[in-house]
Formats: sequence, structure tokens, C-alpha cells
Amino acid sequence: MKLTDRINAIKPSPTLAITMKANALRAEGRDIIGFGAGEPDFDTPDNVKQAAIRAIEAGFTKYTPVGGIDELKDAIIGKLERDNGLSYNRTQIAVSCGAKHTLYNLAQVLFEEGDEVIIPSPYWVSYPDIVILTGAKPVILETKSSEGFKIQPAHLEAAIGERTRAVIINSPSNPSGVAYSPAEMEKLANVLVGKGVLVISDDIYEKILYDGMPFANVPSVCPAMKDLTVVVNGLSKSHAMTGWRIGYAAGPADIIAAVTKLQSQNTSNPNSIAQKASVEALNGDQAVVITMVREFEKRRNVIVERLNAIPGITCMAPQGAFYVFPSIAGLLGRKQGGKVLTTSADWAAYLLEEANVAVIPGGEFGHDDHLRLSYATSMANIEKGLDRIHAAVMKSK
Ligand SMILES: *Cc1c(COP(=O)(O)O)cnc(C)c1O
Repeated sequence: MKLTDRINAIKPSPTLAITMKANALRAEGRDIIGFGAGEPDFDTPDNVKQAAIRAIEAGFTKYTPVGGIDELKDAIIGKLERDNGLSYNRTQIAVSCGAKHTLYNLAQVLFEEGDEVIIPSPYWVSYPDIVILTGAKPVILETKSSEGFKIQPAHLEAAIGERTRAVIINSPSNPSGVAYSPAEMEKLANVLVGKGVLVISDDIYEKILYDGMPFANVPSVCPAMKDLTVVVNGLSKSHAMTGWRIGYAAGPADIIAAVTKLQSQNTSNPNSIAQKASVEALNGDQAVVITMVREFEKRRNVIVERLNAIPGITCMAPQGAFYVFPSIAGLLGRKQGGKVLTTSADWAAYLLEEANVAVIPGGEFGHDDHLRLSYATSMANIEKGLDRIHAAVMKSK
């Protein structure tokens, strides 16, 4: 069948593909330890589940307003005020079917052929393809591991051209776990002031920060940029709600109206029951979020230490999210069973075959001499998986 150039220009999400492959091998009886998952391994908090059950029992199971119910918009407005010191009204909030859907909608209403969108690398796998689908061009802004994978303000400035429409900022970052301090974020924001470039601030890992690090996004440190920023966030990562599919955008009313119009012609409203659950997630007790983050921090400490103990691997300690992004530069070119392992994909395939461990090749995030491991898995799995990776590396020559 002839398919459009548009759909042929993108690839399936590689992280989802590897997770599916690991699941398939498990179903065949192989004892696979998965470091691929991009979702918390914790259960959705009970108060949130109960709110959903109440919504079902109350018959809250019909279409809602396309951009979300007022009760949820108000809960989001309250959260943005409380956590980020940012004030919005209901016309500036649109709720979608997950933050990925929010990002997709934003790209559709903001970008077109001839536009350029700056995407810092290592980047989340979906950003380039979401941009490509609009006809716009992703401009990859390389960051170096020697600079802690942080955008240098001068490099951001140099990347901005005539056609630059927006820059996507994701802190804490997937895949690197890097988070910008308020002072660092302010330096980036200052580069953008007066340039007319939009900021898409993907704050999905806002709650998952370590070592007492405070969260910062562009509009919270630089009020002058608020009218040129769309904040994107959701419940998936903060409240272990990936399957519920609720994300949202907060930003200029004209952009939000356009997103809502687009949504009215494709998904209509996000799931009514999940909206009620999200109200409870945002307004209810946040103790579970803190418990989850403490556990992630312990795991981060262990996985970083174990990776750095493997000759040929070096790993920075990330400040947030639940990923590590170790360098395997010291391993590329090694041989195993007559085959030269030259790329991160070769290494990921080798680790899956030899060690029964699923990891994501760094090439998918724009850095082929790295791997991404998610530590959203139990401490026992981390210890066992790292034993296996260590042994597999020692076997290569
Ligand atoms: C997980 C993730 C999202 C999207 O999450 P949803 O489940 O669609 O809300 C967005 N951005 C990044 C960087 C992510 O890792």
C-alpha cells in the first residue's frame, strides 16, 4: 500500500520496541532483566485509584469538554502556582491524552515547513519525529558529556537563526538525567529573551530530583519569557500513572485554543475517569511521590557505582529522572565471538543475547557511544542485572 512520505519519514519509538522485545523473550521463558522501561515500576497511588472508582460509580463516563474539565484545569492551575510560582487561567490550560500527545499537538499547531526547532542532544526519542511530522526541521544542538550534557548558553545562542521557531528544553532530562539549576536555567532563558523564539518546556520529570536539587523551568526563573513558553507536564512519571494517559499544556491562550481545536477533531477529550483521578493526584496527599523519589535516589546511587566499577564504562551521577546514560566509548570496537561490537546497538544486542539484559542504545538519543538504562526496577534486579552486564563486558576482548 502506498503510504505518505510524512509517515515514511519517521520511525517507531525505539524504546517501546525494545521493551516489547524484552517482553516477548520473557514470554518465551527467558529470564530477561529489563532496563528499558520508561515508566515508574510503582503502582498508581491508592487515593488516585479510589477517585477513579468513584468516578465510574458516579457515572462520570461521558464526553467532557475537549480541553479537560474545569475541576482538573483548576487543579493544574493550583499546582503550577504552588510548585512553580506561575499563574494561569483556564483559557491557558489544555489537557491531552498524555504529555506525548500534548507535545504532538503543540508541534502540529506551531510548526510547519521552513521552520526550525532546536532539540538539545541527547534528546528524548520522540522529539525529532514529532517535529519531522509537521514538515519542520529538527536542529540538533549537541551537548558534551564533558560539559555534563548541559546546553552552553553560547551554543544555544549560536544555534538560533532566522527560521528558529522554538527550542525544546527537558530538565530533568530523559535520557541523561541531567537537571539545570535555577541559575543555569536563567542563563539559558536570558539568551532567549527578545529573540521571539518559543520555549517548549517538557517538565515531565519535575518531581524526580535528587540531592535536594530545586526544580527550575524557563518561565519560573525568567518572567519575561512566560508569554513565549508552553509548559508541558503530566501525571505519568510523578504519580506512576503512565497508563492513564493524562498530560497538559500551560501557555498563551491562542496556542491553547489551537491545541483544543485540533484535539476536537481527533481525540476529543482525554479519558473522563482518568481526569477525575488526576484531580486527586494533584490535590491529594503527595507523600507517595516523595517515597517513590527516595527509592529512586537509592537505586541511582547503586547503579552509578556498579556501572563505574566496570572497566570501559563511565557514568555520571544524574540529578533527576530515573535513567543513567553511561559512556561505553571504552567498549566500542571490542570483539565477542568473532563479531566486532562497533555501535551502541551492537552492544545492546550483545547484552540482550549474552546477558539477558535489555538496555537502550544511546544512538537512539543521538549519542552512539552511550547506553540508556532505566532504574525504574527493583534493587534486586539492578544488582542482578549489573552482575550480568559486568560479566558480559569482561568476556569481550
Ligand atoms: C515519558 C515522557 C513523556 C510523556 O509521557 P506521557 O506518558 O505521554 O505523559 C514526555 N517527555 C519525556 C521526556 C518523557 O520521558
